[in-house]
Amino acid sequence: MKPRYDVVICGASIAGCTAATLYARRGARVALVERRADPAAYKVLCTHFIQPCGQPVLSELGLIGELEAAGAVRNAAHYWTRWGWIRPGADGRSLPYGYNVRRETLDPMLRRLAAGTPGVDLLLGHTVQRLLTGEGGTTGVVTEGPDGPRELRARLVVGADGRDSTVAKLAGLPAKEAGNGRFSYFAQFRGLPRPDGDTTYAWFREPDVAYAMPNDDDVTVIAVIPSAERLAEFRDDLPGAYRRFVASLPNAPSLYGAEQVSKIIGTVHYPLVSRAPVGDGLALIGDAALTSDPLWGVGCGWALQSAQWLVEATAEAVQGLGSLPRALTRYRRKHRSRLHGHQHLISDYAGARPFNPIERLMFSAAARDAGMAEHMHLFGSRLTRVRDFLSPVAMARAAAVNLRHKRHPRPELVPTHRV
Ligand SMILES: Cc1cc2nc3c(=O)[nH]c(=O)nc-3n(C[C@H](O)[C@H](O)[C@H](O)COP(=O)(O)OP(=O)(O)OC[C@H]3O[C@@H](n4cnc5c(N)ncnc54)[C@H](O)[C@@H]3O)c2cc1C
Repeated sequence: MKPRYDVVICGASIAGCTAATLYARRGARVALVERRADPAAYKVLCTHFIQPCGQPVLSELGLIGELEAAGAVRNAAHYWTRWGWIRPGADGRSLPYGYNVRRETLDPMLRRLAAGTPGVDLLLGHTVQRLLTGEGGTTGVVTEGPDGPRELRARLVVGADGRDSTVAKLAGLPAKEAGNGRFSYFAQFRGLPRPDGDTTYAWFREPDVAYAMPNDDDVTVIAVIPSAERLAEFRDDLPGAYRRFVASLPNAPSLYGAEQVSKIIGTVHYPLVSRAPVGDGLALIGDAALTSDPLWGVGCGWALQSAQWLVEATAEAVQGLGSLPRALTRYRRKHRSRLHGHQHLISDYAGARPFNPIERLMFSAAARDAGMAEHMHLFGSRLTRVRDFLSPVAMARAAAVNLRHKRHPRPELVPTHRV
């Protein structure tokens, strides 16, 4: 018997809503299941810097106009390092950008889009509790909702249910965890001066990190990401430790004239998790497949991208045209080839160590040379693969920049004002 749906997607956040919209536009019948009942629900624990790698997906969704009308900020970041500020684009070249937009703006927008796309049934207040299995593997899910349990059958079940993915656990998909030697706290401020327009600032203080990120509605998110050694200080006096940390940053943003409009929230234990992104009749996208270190602000972009890759690989197969196992293999390969190298480097840096020699080479050169700053920007945007970022040509160029700097030192472009 033909199942009622082609795809059941568990989780209606960034990854799930994106996949539901793109599947339905390609003709698939989609059940989009979300445990939270409120259509305006959003993820609170996120600083929502959406890397440029996510921009083409937002564009395919047709959301750019609506995002910009809602005040989403085109992001461009400057990075403080011990060699001075890295300022990609300071030479006037226009660079790819993503958006800084609060999740309370973004998540309901994505959910409205999915719910309004013909072919998507959005089931709010339904929690996935069990998988249904048959000969070909997973054949659907059982949800618990306002009207009791419900069976939803489909050719493909997609876990878009975040880092603690119930779907992955129920399917027994293996997970690999890597420790995180830093913790993070952040708060939102309104009315913080923006002397350089909408620039995001990052501080790499080795091993501690911090960000100031302007967003929609004149809100700036300030995140501090110290090494675990400083946890006791934050546990003793969170507001005091947070403000002292911010005040100690070079060219620190001044919090005194600004209104703090959120609590200081964060996470003190956030291991990185990678899972096999496919099983029989089952796929994972977004954080369910790969949860990275919040320090690099990649999760939202990768949630958008992995949703798009899955739909591109499987939209025909879920409608009975072609082999689903082969389509899932294509998705698995793409996911691995695009994200594995990045996650490997990110996991290594999550140990809260100072920069290693290669990082010192690349970051110092980027502070001294506009071309290297652009190279760094494209890598941080996750538009460049690791092998291209660290190619012999790129490393030789970085070495040449540093040699030139040693012979003819230039004063650094360090802003003297607060950022
Ligand atoms: C402190 C912090 C800061 C971060 N900052 C950034 C940043 O600046 N930039 C960035 O790109 N990323 C950031 N991230 C990561 C980012 O938040 C995630 O990568 C992103 O939300 C992943 O989206 P997702 O759709 O995969 O999962 P989620 O957004 O986690 O959504 C999962 C959805 O599944 C639903 N769900 C869960 N279980 C069930 C179930 N059993 N049944 C039905 N529904 C279910 C949930 O209710 C939720 O709606 C940050 C993360 C943290 C912790």
